[in-house]
Amino acid sequence: MLIDTHCHLDFKDFDLDRDAALERAKVAGIGRIINIGSSIEGSRRSVALAQKYDMVYASVGIHPHEAKSLTASFLAELKSLATSPKVVAIGEVGLDYYRNLSPKNEQIATFEAFIALAGELSLPLVIHARECGNDVIDMLKKIRQASTIHGVMHCFSGNAEFLKKCLDLGLYISFTCNLTFKNAKALRQTAKAVPIERLLLETDAPYLAPEGMRGKRNEPAYMVTLLDEWSKILGL
Ligand SMILES: [Zn+2]
Ligand SMILES: [Zn+2]
Repeated sequence: MLIDTHCHLDFKDFDLDRDAALERAKVAGIGRIINIGSSIEGSRRSVALAQKYDMVYASVGIHPHEAKSLTASFLAELKSLATSPKVVAIGEVGLDYYRNLSPKNEQIATFEAFIALAGELSLPLVIHARECGNDVIDMLKKIRQASTIHGVMHCFSGNAEFLKKCLDLGLYISFTCNLTFKNAKALRQTAKAVPIERLLLETDAPYLAPEGMRGKRNEPAYMVTLLDEWSKILGL
């Protein structure tokens, strides 16, 4: 059974054909989908989708772009949402300095709050890290001295050195269909170093449709294209 470990079916992009997209995923062999919360509203929608559809599980969290929107009452609400039976992770959370849509210090404070929440609830983290150098690694390392961390570095696009640091932290590594892009040669090379037992697949739909469909909406069924790419990379 294939699992799309990261997608955003709750986005408006799927309002017209959510049921059909899930049907297409099933036909393609996708048995489970984890719908990722990326805002407070998105986390609510994510849990609602998990309640509605058997094959959908949920995570709750706030994307670093939205970090500045986290208040004490939202954090309390997310904590209570996270205890819903089909919530399997805290995320996506992390740091994103590419566009800095939330100030750095607020991103760091919010990420810290979610790392603590994940520890408290014994849930893994779904980590989003972009253009943030070693900040994510340093924060996780600090926590790791006191307790264990479980989680996945999602939409991996770093270099070999960053990969090694993530693996040393015990993280799972997840690739999106960006691995299929023509210009992703270096990423495919780096990807070879991921032990298969630490590998997860995701679409991050509606984003990052595979090569040949770039610019279009992505959906869980297209994960098969990513799996084909992996078969080539691993020679399976
Ligand atoms: Zn992300
Ligand atoms: Zn995402």
